[in-house]
Amino acid sequence: MRSVAVVGAGQAGIVLSAALLRAGWRVTLCSDLTAEQYLESGERPTACLFGDQVEYEAALGLDDFPDAPRADRIRLDLYTDDRLVALSVDAPLRKPALAVDQRLKFARGLRELAARGATVVTGSVTEGDLDSLAATHELVVVTVGRKTFGSLFARDPARSVHTSAQRTLFTVNVRGYDLDAHPRHRDIVFTFVPGVVEVFWVPFWDKDAGASRSIAVEAVPGGPADRFGAVTTASEGLAVLRGLVDEMLPGQASFLAPVRPTRETTWLKGAVVPAVREPVAVLPSGRHVLGLGDAVVLNDPIAAQGANNATRMARFFASRLGDYDGTAAWLRARFEEFWEVGRHANDFSEGMLVPMARHQRDVLVAASRHPEVGERLWEGFNDPSTLVPWFFDAAAAREFLARRGVGRWDVLRYRLGVAGTVLGRRVFRRPAPA
Ligand SMILES: Cc1cc2nc3c(=O)[nH]c(=O)nc-3n(C[C@H](O)[C@H](O)[C@H](O)COP(=O)(O)OP(=O)(O)OC[C@H]3O[C@@H](n4cnc5c(N)ncnc54)[C@H](O)[C@@H]3O)c2cc1C
Repeated sequence: MRSVAVVGAGQAGIVLSAALLRAGWRVTLCSDLTAEQYLESGERPTACLFGDQVEYEAALGLDDFPDAPRADRIRLDLYTDDRLVALSVDAPLRKPALAVDQRLKFARGLRELAARGATVVTGSVTEGDLDSLAATHELVVVTVGRKTFGSLFARDPARSVHTSAQRTLFTVNVRGYDLDAHPRHRDIVFTFVPGVVEVFWVPFWDKDAGASRSIAVEAVPGGPADRFGAVTTASEGLAVLRGLVDEMLPGQASFLAPVRPTRETTWLKGAVVPAVREPVAVLPSGRHVLGLGDAVVLNDPIAAQGANNATRMARFFASRLGDYDGTAAWLRARFEEFWEVGRHANDFSEGMLVPMARHQRDVLVAASRHPEVGERLWEGFNDPSTLVPWFFDAAAAREFLARRGVGRWDVLRYRLGVAGTVLGRRVFRRPAPA
């Protein structure tokens, strides 16, 4: 029987372990936290999964959350820097998205995998421990996320775009909102002030409160929305968020007014320095380990790709490892194969961090008038390879729009329409949609 040690019971580790158990491998799952400790832990990100990844988890029997709210649409409001909504895109997702509290998910995953025959070992694995795991297993896969083993997998300078964080982050989970008064919030809402802040309002299944909303803020460092640094509790963060919304996104103020945190300890702040690392590390003994998930491909969460990508990587490697020949070269070659498609998640994340190119603004303007264009745009969250080439290339974008009946003159007309809307809102101070 083939044997694998998976280090880290997070998104990549749970999914990979479930897939390899199903394929008949003997799995040792090493987790620094027990299921109970996961449930008691504090900070955890939003981690919204999109359609294909939701389906894959379901196919692996990891989807035991029947009451969790699914999102069928994304509604984007693009604000001007004087608090007006310039443009909205409201389009369906091809398949529902699902965001479940990772503490609950990973706690259940640990218990479920133990019940299916995995050997669960609790305790924080050190770099030194990896060697004894490698001596007793055919393969060791390190899926410890972004915070540990930072130097084990060498940074790949050719594939890493940044050396500093491009956003500061704040997340809080809330309940107490009124969906009848704010029906747009039944699905995912994005509210962006370009160059200043992106706020994501995501239907969420919280381990304490059940159906709730996870609000994730991405602020441009040093800008007027970068104000969560001194926050120490969920309530403090929510108060800062209310101030920010009043100043910059007034359309969301009434939604936010009645909410309260699901728990004082359920929130996070921080920043991510995106990086791509070598997928295989050679230990002092000469044995090697494979890295998956954030440990190797770490993106800013702006395009919600981290957990989706961890799932894609786990799925990809689970489908290939049956042919593993025990060499580092084989693992490196499979990573290159993965990267052919996987790199599009990085390009998409990078595309959302920088100011939009003109052709991307044209696509967005067209999407505000044609939901089918919006649907193709949103499909990028599920499968970023579908954005290629049209999201990244001006000529391809023109062709993409033309095939959907949107010509250059239409784009010009829509642009003038947006300018007229903004002017009208400036003159009449019409409230933005909530
Ligand atoms: C604010 C924010 C919002 C986000 N929103 C989204 C989103 O909407 N959609 C999305 O796809 N992604 C999102 N992400 C990213 C996503 O959460 C991560 O990319 C994803 O969880 C990575 O999966 P992973 O398996 O690599 O690591 P993790 O899920 O972090 O799992 C790693 C696990 O390893 C364990 N571990 C760590 N060290 C050790 C050790 N030494 N020994 C044993 N175990 C160890 C930890 O307990 C941890 O649970 C967000 C991230 C942030 C910061």
